[in-house]
Amino acid sequence: MNTSDLEKYLKLEVDGNAVDAKIIDPGSVITGEWVTWKCQFGCFMYGRGYCCPPETPTSEQTRKMIDCYQRAILFHMEFPNEKGVDNQKIASKLNETLTDLEGEIFKDGFYKAFIFLGGPCSLCAGCAKLKGEPCSLGNRARPAMEACGIDVYQTARNNGFFIKTLRDTSETRRRFCLMLVD
Ligand code: SF4
Repeated sequence: MNTSDLEKYLKLEVDGNAVDAKIIDPGSVITGEWVTWKCQFGCFMYGRGYCCPPETPTSEQTRKMIDCYQRAILFHMEFPNEKGVDNQKIASKLNETLTDLEGEIFKDGFYKAFIFLGGPCSLCAGCAKLKGEPCSLGNRARPAMEACGIDVYQTARNNGFFIKTLRDTSETRRRFCLMLVD
């Protein structure tokens, strides 16, 4: 796989925090029907936003979509639990930065560029879905990997990243986002 033309997209920083990034084979991205079951039975955001199930594509649709690509970039950021640090704000900034990057990659000629973010969409204080209105920022709203049936744990491990389940909120959280490029 030739990667030299994508390397410039790997150097990212969000609020002074480094973001790791790796060019990966989309074939290493794992999808599974069980993933959105964990959203449906276990996440308070289920049914509360346009970027969450059941509004998001199924794992089967996501697999078909990912299989349209030959190159992708997996981004990773650590969120240690430090006093006075607003991790939610940094996570939102990461999502915004990667949505902007999707636009830059598109303008560079990679017209298929698409970003899967991490966590529920937080662009609005309350999702328009709750008011029965269309998405307010459809040009920027992007779903999370997990919301589309991507097994984030196995995908990260397949690409040499460390990830583990957490016992409590004092542990370092990790967020992964996937840019399909081509
Ligand atoms: S941009 Fe706003 S309305 Fe659209 S999915 Fe995100 S929170 Fe919901």
